[in-house]
This record gives sequence, structure tokens and C-alpha cells, in this order.
Amino acid sequence: MRFHDFGLRPELLQALEEAGYDTPTPVQEQSIPILLEGHDLIGVAQTGTGKTLAFLLPIFQTQRAGGTDPQALVVCPTRELAIQVAGEAERFGKHLGVRTVLAYGGTSSGDQKRSLVSGADLLVGTPGRLLDFVNSAWLSLRSVRAVVLDEADRMLDMGFINDVDAILKRSPMSRQTMLFSATIPDEIRELAERYMLHPRTVTMHRGTKVADQVNHALYPVRGSQKQALLVEILRRENPAKTLIFTATRENTSVLALALRRRGHEVVSLSSLLSQANRERALEAFRRGDFPVLVATDVAARGLDITDIDLVVNFDVPMHAEDYVHRIGRTGRAERSGKAVTLVSEHDERRVADIERLLGQAVQRVELPGFSYEPRPAGGARRPGRRGGSHPGRPRRSGRSSGPRRRGTSGGRGRAGRAGGTSRSG
Ligand code: AMP
Repeated sequence: MRFHDFGLRPELLQALEEAGYDTPTPVQEQSIPILLEGHDLIGVAQTGTGKTLAFLLPIFQTQRAGGTDPQALVVCPTRELAIQVAGEAERFGKHLGVRTVLAYGGTSSGDQKRSLVSGADLLVGTPGRLLDFVNSAWLSLRSVRAVVLDEADRMLDMGFINDVDAILKRSPMSRQTMLFSATIPDEIRELAERYMLHPRTVTMHRGTKVADQVNHALYPVRGSQKQALLVEILRRENPAKTLIFTATRENTSVLALALRRRGHEVVSLSSLLSQANRERALEAFRRGDFPVLVATDVAARGLDITDIDLVVNFDVPMHAEDYVHRIGRTGRAERSGKAVTLVSEHDERRVADIERLLGQAVQRVELPGFSYEPRPAGGARRPGRRGGSHPGRPRRSGRSSGPRRRGTSGGRGRAGRAGGTSRSG
């Protein structure tokens, strides 16, 4: 199957050719014909599957540029995703003259209002700001023919479901509705039943499969040695672009600071930063000015950077599905990539969940001087030395030294891992 087979407009085929996209991804192959026929669609698919083009191409197929009010609306949970979708829309709608306008919160609304007033064909935004514009009559949804709810489950998690409901209520009944979501919790199913007409469903099971081109491994390490191991991995791999995930936004700052002290050029991305600074950080990483980005899951969602060589799970993700999502940030667009997960003495249960989800064991790589003896069943702790090591001062294998409890840092859960990040070497 090739994009030519869908009977797309020449302007779209030209843009696809310029992007070097010849073959649709599975979600595109299944969704595009359904959407071109005008059906409503539920796409169970995550970012990275090509879902953005799966909805943009059918929308653009019948788009007439140059009207006053938007004909299509894409509702996203985060500004980052909205910016990414708008970027794809500009790239693939350019030969049709599609005017894409962004509307997201956290920044002043003046420029967004001015863009709206000067005419928008496609509007991409976050629920709160979109609803503000509708309520204050800056935005009319009367010409809307298509509404996309992108990452609907995230919108639910972030408490936007009522805003989404209100936006749907205010848009014409004749619209085509598309809902994309990695999972379909009950509230999303109810929303679909309320607002969609006999929707077809397309399901991508990418959630439980790691792409073949991603080489992923677990690196056992004592919590207190995680920073030192990370530095050692960066030294060995020497990647041009590295994305590091931490469990909390506070951890992004702590880890970024620690890496900077060790001579790495790092940017961090979390909701602690202002919107302008988040965009600046992302752009600097995208350009390659900073080779390392430290981020939380939320901040990294929708991150569309195809040349990440190495993904590091500094903290093992809380949910097994997030493991696949995170490591799918590398090995994109036909490139190969590597993903490493630092597994400390507190993480074994989560690792077991991940391996159960994948249906296979993940290889373990032990670097000399960085390992730990799994805790005996029953959780008894062994007495041991404090586990700080320095790459320039390698320790012996350390097999006999267990974790030592100190303040909160020896405990389980977030506090324990946060403590682990803040002292090392
Ligand atoms: P998405 O899931 O929409 O975030 O897409 C993930 C990445 O895949 C984006 O960088 C897209 O530009 C890219 N992509 C989408 N469709 C294709 C395709 N058919 N062939 C190659 N890359 C694609």
C-alpha cells in the first residue's frame, strides 16, 4: 500500500513526497480510507504510530483554504502536542495554503486572537483556551466540519473532560468526529457514545511491542549510584542526542544540575518552566545545541524528535505501558536507537510488570562496579557501606554492599528515588 492508492489530492501527495513518506503506517493504512468515506473514528493508537497524518490527510482532502472561521479543530491535552500537530499541519497543508492557528493556555492570548481574526482554516489547541475563545466569542465553531480529540485519555487524566464535552456541544452536529487515545477508559467510551455517530474503531497494539530497531536493556544499579552509572553510560555510548526520563518534575531539575556539574550540556523540560522557556529548551535540544534533555513523561509527551540516539529511564516508569511509550522516543523514522533503564533495588516489581506486558524478559547489562544484590524476599535490608561511586574512582564489584538507609533516600517510592538523584559520586 502506498499513499498514492488513497486517491489523495496532488497537493498532499507532493507534500508527502517532499517529506519522503511513501508508505502509510498501519494506523494510516486503516484509518485514512474510513475517514475519507466520512465515518467517525476511534483510533486506539499512541504518539509515534503516525496518527497525526492519519487524521490530517483526510481533513485536508476536502479542506478549502481561505475562509473566516476554522473548518477543522484539533483538541490536544498539552501545548507541546498542539505545537507538534500544528507543525505537521503546516508541513503537509502548505501546498493547499491551509492556515493553521494555535490556541493554548499559559501564554497571553493577544497573538492567538489576532491570528484567529485574520482567518484560520485549521485550529489546534488545548481545551481550556479553546473554550475561553468560544465563550468570549473570539471563536465561532459554526463552520467546523471535523473535530479531532487527540490523546483523549490524557485529556481525561488532566481533568479536561468537561471542557472537551463543552467544545463538542458547541460544534455543529453534522461534523465528523475523530478520537485518538492510547487507552479507552469508561469516561472516554461514554464521551464517544454521546458525541460520535456509529464510529468505526481502529486499534494499534503498539503499546505492548517494542520496535525492532530499538535495542533496550536494563542496567541494575544501587539507587545511590544511578547518577554515576548514567555518566558512565553517556561516556561509553557518546550519543549525539539523549533523552532522559525522571519520575517527577523536581527530579528533572536535580538531575540536570548534577549532569551540568559533571560537564554535560543539558536542558530540562518540566511544567516547572514557563511556556516560553519550555519551547526554548525544546528548540535548543532539537537543534542539537544541547545534547541531553531531561524530562518527565508529561513534558515529553508529543515530543516529535526523530533523531534521538539514546533514551535513558533514570527512574523506572510507574506504569508498564509508559516503558514502551518512553523507549519509543528512539528508533524512530527507520533509525536504530538504544534505550537503557536504570533498575535499582526498589524497582524489581515494576520491572516484572514491564516484562509481563512485553511477554518477554528484557536483557540485563551489568557494568563493572555498578550492580546490586537483589534484596532477599521479605524485604530485610543488609547492612552495607554507602554506595557513592565515582567514574574516575571505580569500586570493586560491590556485591557485598547493600543499600544503606539514610533519611528518606533509602525508602521506597518517589522520595527514595528523589533522594537517590540528589547525592552521588
Ligand atoms: P505521530 O504518531 O503522528 O506523532 O508520528 C510520528 C512520526 O512519524 C512523525 O515524525 C511523523 O512525521 C512520522 N510519520 C508519520 N507518518 C509517516 C509515514 N507514513 N512514513 C514515515 N514517517 C511517518
